[in-house]
Amino acid sequence: MTTKTLGLGTILARAGRRVGAAESLPAEPPQPLAEPIALASVYRFADLEQVDAVWEKRQPGYIYRRFGHPNAATLEALVAALEGAEAAVACNSGMAAIVATLAAHVKAGETIVAQRGLYGGTETLLREQLARLGVATCMADEPTPEAFAWACASVPPDGGPVRAFLVESIANPSLKVADLPGLAALARSRGALLIVDNTFATPLGCRPLQFGSSVVVHSATKYLNGHSDVVGGLAAGPPEHIDPVRRTAAAMGLGMSPLDAWLTVRGLKTLHLRFARQQTNAAAIAKHLSGRAGVSKVLYPGLPEHPDYALATRVLSGFGAMVSFELTGGAPAVDRFIRALRLITFAPSLGESETTVMYPARTSHRDLAEQDKVAAGAGPGLVRLSVGTEDLDDLLADLDQALEAALDGDSGRGPR
Ligand SMILES: *Cc1c(COP(=O)(O)O)cnc(C)c1O
Repeated sequence: MTTKTLGLGTILARAGRRVGAAESLPAEPPQPLAEPIALASVYRFADLEQVDAVWEKRQPGYIYRRFGHPNAATLEALVAALEGAEAAVACNSGMAAIVATLAAHVKAGETIVAQRGLYGGTETLLREQLARLGVATCMADEPTPEAFAWACASVPPDGGPVRAFLVESIANPSLKVADLPGLAALARSRGALLIVDNTFATPLGCRPLQFGSSVVVHSATKYLNGHSDVVGGLAAGPPEHIDPVRRTAAAMGLGMSPLDAWLTVRGLKTLHLRFARQQTNAAAIAKHLSGRAGVSKVLYPGLPEHPDYALATRVLSGFGAMVSFELTGGAPAVDRFIRALRLITFAPSLGESETTVMYPARTSHRDLAEQDKVAAGAGPGLVRLSVGTEDLDDLLADLDQALEAALDGDSGRGPR
């Protein structure tokens, strides 16, 4: 039985360890069930022949931690199995995974076409850092082949060839769903890579490589680790696309530390349990909030009225656990709402086992111009819930009383 034939829950529960004969560890002496943390920065060699053999990958082994280490290898194999990829590389943040992927595949004088409304940090990377290094970005208004074809056609002549498309399978905070099959076909026809940030969907909600995407990236900081104690990221895909990312990450010093890799593997062991519960809670909350006084709009791809609902049923195997909604009272109502919450925590991240609320206009999208915030869906009344694993009734009760407080101010009774 190989890891490939097992269900994702089985792969996760065993932290990716192979089954039976395929298990690579020696049978004697008995091996620890939990993997040790290998903190060594460097490995020692018997002679020149051994150093050559390891360097040239004729013999398994590690040399120097920046090039790779056992804990990263375990995590990489696990995430590759989840994504249905042949290879993965672990980086010291989601941004590091994105920058290593782009730097490996795009060079000065070339262009990236990206969806408008990406994670704020990714937009800042493209606009401020890569632009400075001579890589241009052209924004497509929607994560659709039509909008990307339009954006490709509008690249100025000095923009050079379009090398990569960059989208999020479920975008932040608009929760738009990318048309991955259509975008993959367009990318292929233009000789560009389709790079998909799958952080919000997780491999349990979407497997972008199945739809012809070239590289999948993750912020492991979020659902994969799930316990708010790691910053990390991964890129996964076929070796032809991932080997260059690995070399770039090693050269730029972007690799993940052993402790972070170990903690991420530990977190992943329960991803299927956490995410199933989170998605059930999120669907119920989205329904509960829809049409309520004080809430002008609810964004959740599992609601039939969501513009991407039909696409979501084709591309996603679950609707995710993020729910965005807009308060009619704008920023002052958001302030009252957040201050009134008793259970739900105000924290600018997502994917933890507890429910958090976040205000994109002042956190992830803070650096964007006002009109770009609105274009990204991060308008003044928008709050984003990362729904956790708590008991649903407790979450609904907290949301209800905080919405009351937000409304109180609207009716002129002033903030508490
Ligand atoms: C958080 C996040 C990132 C960046 O990841 P870090 O681990 O914070 O570097 C990238 N993309 C998405 C969708 C994210 O949510």
